[in-house]
Amino acid sequence: AAKHAGANRFQEHTAELDSTAQHDADLAAALRRGLDRGEFHLAYQPIVELPDGRIIGVEALVRWQPPDGAMVSPADFIPVAERTGLILDLGLWVIETACADAARWQREHGPRAPRVNINVSARQLLDPELPDQVASTMARYRLDPDKITLEITETAVFGGGAALSTVKELRELGVGVALDDFGTGQSSLTLLRTCPVTTLKVDKSFIDELNGTAEQEAIATSLSTIAATLGLRAVAEGVETYEQAVRLEALGYRYAQGYYFAKPGPAALIDAALDRDRVQQ
Ligand code: C2E
Ligand code: MG
Ligand code: MG
Ligand code: MG
Repeated sequence: AAKHAGANRFQEHTAELDSTAQHDADLAAALRRGLDRGEFHLAYQPIVELPDGRIIGVEALVRWQPPDGAMVSPADFIPVAERTGLILDLGLWVIETACADAARWQREHGPRAPRVNINVSARQLLDPELPDQVASTMARYRLDPDKITLEITETAVFGGGAALSTVKELRELGVGVALDDFGTGQSSLTLLRTCPVTTLKVDKSFIDELNGTAEQEAIATSLSTIAATLGLRAVAEGVETYEQAVRLEALGYRYAQGYYFAKPGPAALIDAALDRDRVQQ
């Protein structure tokens, strides 16, 4: 009986794998079609300076709106795009579109134009063509490299190797590199020594728990201190309340991003905010 149960479990497990593979294949086909038919767009979320909310940057966040259905969250389709390799084409589209918007802001707002942060997945960092693609896109739009920051995760560069070499090549182009969701991956202080990043994006989980307990405050303070000591920017992610914003400033944070300041929105909303020079609160 035990053996039988084992076999059943094996069959169930295999069926599960099949259905994951099927789900991936169906979603990947829909993503491919969506990319060809222009169903993607970018939302931009401001990154602001504390305490006044002046916009210093924006993060490009991809959105997929199939014509016949509800908006699909990137948390659902990015992992599939990574597993199926489609992230390479989707990622190129994101780089192209974000650079086009960044160049327009650079033309229209000069030195006040926001830096544009572009998320780059682990798979993209393993593509040896990525630095050339970024360089040629920026050149085509006459975009200053200091107007672009690429957001990568700790996990993507943790093992060193090809991904780390790519990051070094990207830095040589003059673009910024931010460690996204900092503190949640395979954080290692060695990474900060070997991987030439310019910004730490302190994960929302550390910001959420800023409820005045000594431990949480100590961690949040240490992260901003590490960044400052290493000459990096620290951005607090996922700031949702006025109280958090005030506390973060007191703990040494200069930059923040979150629903309290602004939700991700169309590029036109960023234009309006740039004209006012700050987010609407
Ligand atoms: P992320 O890069 O860490 O982006 C921040 C996510 O947190 C975004 O979710 C944003 O809408 C959300 N967020 C911002 N402020 C707040 C807040 O105050 N409260 C809460 N609850 N959430 C907040 P989104 O847009 O759904 O993106 C999810 C993830 O999908 C991103 O996390 C990123 O890992 C990935 N992603 C999005 N766009 C791209 C892309 O173009 N390329 C790649 N490779 N990944 C992307
Ligand atoms: Mg990000
Ligand atoms: Mg993040
Ligand atoms: Mg995140």
